Amino acid sequence: MQDLQKTLTLQEADEKYLWHSMKGSAPGQANVVFTKGDGAWVTDSDGNRYLDAMSGLWCVNVGYGRQELAEAAYKQLQELAYVPLTQSHIPAIKLAEKLNEWLNDEYVIFFSNSGSEANEAAFKIAGQYHQQTGGHNRYKFVSRYRSYHGNTMGALAATGQSQRKFKYEPLSQGFLHVAPPDIYRNPDDVSTLSSAEEIDRVMTWELSETIAGVIMEPIITGGGILMPPQGYMARVKEICEKHGALLICDEVICGFGRTGKPFGFMNYDVKPDIITMAKGITSGYLPLSATAVKKEIYEAYAGEDTYDRFRHVNTFGGNPAACALALKNLEIYENENLIQRSRDLGEKLLVELQELKEHPYVGDVRGKGLLLGIELVRDKHTKEPLEAEIVTGIITNCKEKGLIIGKNADTVAGFNNILQLAPPLSITDDDFSFIVKTLKESFLHV
Ligand code: PMP
Repeated sequence: MQDLQKTLTLQEADEKYLWHSMKGSAPGQANVVFTKGDGAWVTDSDGNRYLDAMSGLWCVNVGYGRQELAEAAYKQLQELAYVPLTQSHIPAIKLAEKLNEWLNDEYVIFFSNSGSEANEAAFKIAGQYHQQTGGHNRYKFVSRYRSYHGNTMGALAATGQSQRKFKYEPLSQGFLHVAPPDIYRNPDDVSTLSSAEEIDRVMTWELSETIAGVIMEPIITGGGILMPPQGYMARVKEICEKHGALLICDEVICGFGRTGKPFGFMNYDVKPDIITMAKGITSGYLPLSATAVKKEIYEAYAGEDTYDRFRHVNTFGGNPAACALALKNLEIYENENLIQRSRDLGEKLLVELQELKEHPYVGDVRGKGLLLGIELVRDKHTKEPLEAEIVTGIITNCKEKGLIIGKNADTVAGFNNILQLAPPLSITDDDFSFIVKTLKESFLHV
């Protein structure tokens, strides 16, 4: 076989042979090629180092370069590399048991490979549950505008960011959207919970008997770190119960300590019926996701008929090496007290960055745990979003200084004005200081 390195540079080969997310085929959009990761830091092929304050795509929660994770996967691959999901294996059993410990209640676990797939499984499980308990016409799901739930036809339909759907429609049917809580722009929501009440109205207008469930992140992450007002989630759960709908919590980002609790919903005193998780389950080292289902829902699948069973199969879900690695990963969170650290450092970061509010463009600084958003506005009075180019300029400036941060993207509503931070929960004190210092410096010249 031809050795690419002999004829093309890495960048040229990348441009020629790889199709990246969010990119077209126009030439000259060179990618940074990353070659190494250690702790919170990544190195590119030119030897530049960056502190990755986005943990990749919100997933490398325990940081890069963990030998013990590589060893756990290696050992399992040697022992038994593959078992179909229709059968069982020890790492899957142990992991499901461990997740129950983390969830602090009884859930049965269905494994898949990605957050999108975990959500697809949740939609099917919820829909079939209703069919098997007499709710034959319950097929609609409610979610919030500005949320993201995945790239597959159902999970993308649930997603509330229209620009992500454009040119891929029509998607799956029956997905309804309501406004998200946004207490920076709609502070009355804190006392009225109007964004929760809208769910009640939509379910009534749509006819309760057609509603299968609600899917929501405890905190909207990719859509701009939108924090719910106190009491919002509990009210949503009540509304679900009133209409006979299930509450599905998408914990793909909020799970595994990101918000300073094992799972995001634990900040809000609710018990979801179904919980989906991915990313932090393996800290991104291998693909794995899970759909955790309350026992009472599982029990509706007791019929002997084939059609009473959950007939959703995926080849790679719950791969033994991924499960073994996930178990070791959960051990790291526990041994290094990373959830507490996320809570403590998150509080400290929030305090440190409040100072940025003195800057004319910084309208709001918010978050929970090591999940932080900085909302940038052109005018603090009207809250008009700051132009995307200036927001991007700040991100570029941070990157030039060796700090990777992110931003939300909603070109339709003009909300691409929120800087996002989600560093590994394992960041050192020096890393923490570097993030604060670099962010503050990056605002000096805008
Ligand atoms: N839900 C949420 C909240 C997410 O942020 C994502 C991915 N960023 C997904 C679901 C989909 O996960 P995946 O990309 O692993 O399919």
